[in-house]
Amino acid sequence: MYFYSWLRRLCGGLSTPCGRTQPVWGTLSRSLGLSSQRIPEFSSFVARTNTCGELRSSHLGQEVTLCGWIQYRRQNIFLVLRDFQGLVQVVIPQDESSASVKKILCEAPVESVVQVSGTVISRPPGQENPKMPTGEIEIKVKTAVLLNSCKKLPFEIKDFVKKTEALRLQYRYLDLRSFQMQYNLRLRSEMVMKMREYLCNLHGFVDIETPTLFKRTPGGAKEFLVPSREPGKFYSLPQSPQQFKQLLMVGGLDRYFQVARCYRDEGSRPDRQPEFTQIDIEMSFVDQTGIQSLIEGLLQYSWPSDKAPIAVPFPSVTFAEALATYGTDKPDTRFGMKIVDISDAFRNTEIGFLQDALSKTQGTIKAIRIPEGAEVLPIFLIANSNWNSPVAKFIMEERRLELIRLMEIQEEDVVLLTAGEHQKACTLLGKLRLECADLLEMRGMVLRDPAVFSFLWVVDFPLFLPKEESPRELESAHHPFTAPHPGDIHLLCSEPEKVRSQHYDLVLNGSEIGGGSIRIHDAELQRYILQTLLKEDVKLLSHLLKALDYGAPPHGGIALGLDRLICLVTGAPSIRDVIAFPKSFRGHDLMSNAPDSIPSEDLKPYHIQVSWPIDSEAEKSSLNHPHCPDC
Ligand code: ASP
Repeated sequence: MYFYSWLRRLCGGLSTPCGRTQPVWGTLSRSLGLSSQRIPEFSSFVARTNTCGELRSSHLGQEVTLCGWIQYRRQNIFLVLRDFQGLVQVVIPQDESSASVKKILCEAPVESVVQVSGTVISRPPGQENPKMPTGEIEIKVKTAVLLNSCKKLPFEIKDFVKKTEALRLQYRYLDLRSFQMQYNLRLRSEMVMKMREYLCNLHGFVDIETPTLFKRTPGGAKEFLVPSREPGKFYSLPQSPQQFKQLLMVGGLDRYFQVARCYRDEGSRPDRQPEFTQIDIEMSFVDQTGIQSLIEGLLQYSWPSDKAPIAVPFPSVTFAEALATYGTDKPDTRFGMKIVDISDAFRNTEIGFLQDALSKTQGTIKAIRIPEGAEVLPIFLIANSNWNSPVAKFIMEERRLELIRLMEIQEEDVVLLTAGEHQKACTLLGKLRLECADLLEMRGMVLRDPAVFSFLWVVDFPLFLPKEESPRELESAHHPFTAPHPGDIHLLCSEPEKVRSQHYDLVLNGSEIGGGSIRIHDAELQRYILQTLLKEDVKLLSHLLKALDYGAPPHGGIALGLDRLICLVTGAPSIRDVIAFPKSFRGHDLMSNAPDSIPSEDLKPYHIQVSWPIDSEAEKSSLNHPHCPDC
């Protein structure tokens, strides 16, 4: 389904065959280099004249040579040939003189690679297949060559959904033949191409590669280490090109971007990969609004044409509003069920636990209304006078009316109520909100239409958060190079935890797809934040601090998580489905068995040796069978 819509879009509206250069504006477009007006030549330089999927009635009578994989064969009369662009029916010749062609086409196993040459003919009346883009024609074969025979496959290519993910990853090269993977990777390539075009050609950005062998960066995610030949010295794989892109601004490059590979050693998480790709951007002399407009334009420009266009500017909420209304800093705004503060309705309550909560500083009572929730949840409160809840009998009539008014409660709705400290109460209801949405959708209610793309900026984050493991210390909410909000600079020394930052996140359908900030370009301020507030070792960043002292321009930037963005755009169930060779949930490459053990001889030049865990045998054997723990 996916594939055909991609194919239709690609070939849609073309009266001439695809695969030929068709400059819409003739030679002018050629000299202007209007690449987006050109239809790619899919058959240049290779041993075919056309692709299987491009053939239509407009090709009738043409002599063609096709190369592809045998998708299936019917009664030794028809063979369906597949390439990246689609399927075409080939008629196997039955006459004596073509016995050798028949033998090749009838004996080659499914998924063998063949080259056929013949004529494009119409299918006999009544035998057209309207479900197939090439369904009006077929190929009358004259010659055939078996280019390579295929052994028995571990799974059928077309049964994409039926095989386990571990098996798909183990035979990724076969999995890539599926229509879904082809669609996902080609859409990704197309979007990246348009992004490059928008950034470089329309807005003067420079595409610059930055090193992946780097040194440790304080704060932030855990980094992968790479041993060096100098005893005890290691490179780190960068978690992002953050320092380099800032240094490029000091270097006067002015507008940088990179399709950047980043690495984070964060263990297994469902929507993360140890190596992933960011569209990494930095600009000089820019403010937050400038970056936001750039990203809105970028996404609008690169948005696939088979999806509904996106409207800009994207709405924006502050971090505090997002937390108070949705219980998270990445709200899914495709549906309501917002958190309502109902503390006032319960000020003089006699219900012990509510009274107790309200008597504490920051104590609140919050609620969400689940529309028609009575269908899926054990009922706590219902809108009519028969409130079905253990706490109902304690809620006086006028309070009930007040609650109904505040929450706009309808018959069959469910209200979930919680009491406690503001942030905790909101976070809890935020999680319940999503759980309830799942439950309602399981019952058939459509809350999150897959065709809807709901973008949202979240701004005014705090500059610092209490460290999880020791809450008296501070850590950066984004990263230590983020500038404080100009309105809060005066609080930096006295109450740093109250300082807002110039950090912005971009959220799409409840997933964070980007984040960035305006940076600190003043060396003194950067040193103070690193050393005094974050207690980091500034020696590790002396090169950056020094650079800020040599005329660093004001600058800011952002990074978009490409894998996550493409995953949401394609509607793929996992980011692994939009990456050609992803790692498993546990960070293994199930195809090649990486990471792999290394003979101790090979470790010697790096002056390191493995200290095997106690259960070393178990460990070694799990290395030899890496897919077991991943399934
Ligand atoms: N380097 C940041 C990140 O990877 C993005 C940025 O601040 O530009 O999240």
